[in-house]
Formats: sequence, structure tokens, C-alpha cells
Amino acid sequence: MKIIDLSVPVRTNPGEPVPVTVKLTDHVEGAEVLGAVYGLTADDFPDGYAISTELVTLSTHCGTHIDAPLHYGPHSEGKSAKSIDELPLEFFFAQGLLLRFDSDPQRGPVSADEVAAAVERHNLTSIARRIVLLDVGAAEKWSTKEYFTSFRGIAPEAVEYLINQGVKVIGTDAFGFDQPFGNMLKNWRKTGSKDVLWPTHILGRKREYFQIERLAGLDQLPDDIPFNIACFPIRLAGCGAAWTRAVAILEDCSA
Ligand SMILES: [Zn+2]
Repeated sequence: MKIIDLSVPVRTNPGEPVPVTVKLTDHVEGAEVLGAVYGLTADDFPDGYAISTELVTLSTHCGTHIDAPLHYGPHSEGKSAKSIDELPLEFFFAQGLLLRFDSDPQRGPVSADEVAAAVERHNLTSIARRIVLLDVGAAEKWSTKEYFTSFRGIAPEAVEYLINQGVKVIGTDAFGFDQPFGNMLKNWRKTGSKDVLWPTHILGRKREYFQIERLAGLDQLPDDIPFNIACFPIRLAGCGAAWTRAVAILEDCSA
């Protein structure tokens, strides 16, 4: 069995707009925290060390993560939008399908025609229930400022095409599914239209789907061997998103 990590490390970097903070309680300090009430010091612990802990603060959208319908709006398909802990886990372990696209951000969001052509190249009778990963060549910019400001989004029509094929979980190696914030803002200033603000996320109010953002390692995936994807979201109660350690599994687990 071979496992390919499809997630990025969680740490502050110029590609993430919200910083990650880690407050470490080290092994010596840990002794005071754990033992102070009982009069213990570090010297009372084996080797003079207690156990360490970290207090981490970060956005639910930091690093490789999954967006639940609750992120898109209060309702999805006419019902209360599901939070991340309410999503059925069956969707997050399935056969993967990797689609590769031109990475030039000047081309704008990946279109429905591009996605349809990429799917057709695989000659499959059905892609229903697969986890579809869209490689827009953004991962190589991860941890740079450009990762946040310059990438190809995915057009809502492209996502809807996949939903119509029975796909529920769709991932990208870019910062997000919609265009960079600066591009959307420019379009909004030009048109004044509500339709140019996060259109792909907002599609999720009409058609329920789950999106993985900020994937990595897609360049290591084979084009000719089938693989499974496991990308269970962390069970954050009532939240609109959660982190995932997404991986590709290249052979049967029993092998
Ligand atoms: Zn997100």
C-alpha cells in the first residue's frame, strides 16, 4: 500500500490571510501546570520533564480543509445547511478522479467545458460518488503571497456539471473555489452585480456539495492507476468547515 499526502502543513505563511498561533507549554512548564496543585515540580517527574501541550488558534479554513454547506449560507437545497460534523462520512472515502488543467490564472476560472473534456478523456461509464480532484497547478505557489492572490478558481457551471454526474465531494489545490478576492472585488466594482461575489460557493445553496480547498501533492498522483481518497473532516460541532489530512491510497488496504 502506498499513501500520498494531499495536505499542506498547518502553520502561518504568507499564503494564509489568518495567522496560526501556537502557544507551547513545554515539558518543564508542563510540570508546573500539571503538578503545581499537588506541590510537584519538574524534579518530581522522570528525567525532570512532564508532558508538553500546545494551545493553537487558527481559522477553520486554514490549510487543507473541507467546506460544509453551512459555509455557503443558512440553507442548501431548501433545507437547513449541514455543518461539517453533520456530513455523512461515506462521502469522504471513495475512489478518486484527478483532472488536470492549465494553471495560467489569466485564463480565469476553470469552465464547465474544460471539466467535461477532462472527464471524457478518462472514458468512464460513470463518475458518480467519486471524489474529484481538480489540479489547477496552484500548489507550487503554496506558502507564497501569490497563492492567495493569483490562481484559477472553478466556475459554478463546472461544479454543477460534476454534481449532475453524481459527484458530491470536489477538491482543488488552489486557495479556494472562487476567484481570488481581488478579482471578485474588481468585477463587483465594474458590474455592481451580486452574481460575481463567491458564485461557486453560493451555488452550494442551490445544489448541495462539499469542497476541499488547499490540497497538495496532486502532481504525485498517477494518471493511469486507480486510487482511493480518504479525507475525513475533523468533527468540529456546528462549524461550517474543518481541517482534513487528505490522502490518496494507491493499493487495496488489504494488500
Ligand atoms: Zn474554505
